[in-house]
Amino acid sequence: MLQSPHQPLQVAAVPAQRTPAREDDAGPWHSEAACRRDEAGLFFAPSKEPTAARLAREEAAKRVCGGCPVMIECREHALMQPEPYGVWGGLTAAERRVALARRRRRDIELTATTTAERIAAAG
Ligand code: SF4
Repeated sequence: MLQSPHQPLQVAAVPAQRTPAREDDAGPWHSEAACRRDEAGLFFAPSKEPTAARLAREEAAKRVCGGCPVMIECREHALMQPEPYGVWGGLTAAERRVALARRRRRDIELTATTTAERIAAAG
């Protein structure tokens, strides 16, 4: 089994959820992760982290993601799992929830449009 791209040395919120369920869920992108050794513990919150510290830590993690060669693959993995905690693919957990909500809304709109077009075509 592959390890999560983040290898925290500090306590992670839910370490077990950072490991993809199966090797083919993660794909080969893990081996190229810029955060493979997260010595600074940037990607997951320690317990009872103050808001200002969390925001600063998340921004630092996002800067690492910004230079990561597998950001797109990582982000898609985190959205598809979905990963509930931590910074993945340059997005915080809250930002991923927003992205997923937008995807769902877009999918609903596309389905509604397709259905309306079918009804119109059927006359
Ligand atoms: S995009 Fe960020 S979280 Fe994902 S593998 Fe790269 S550095 Fe790690």
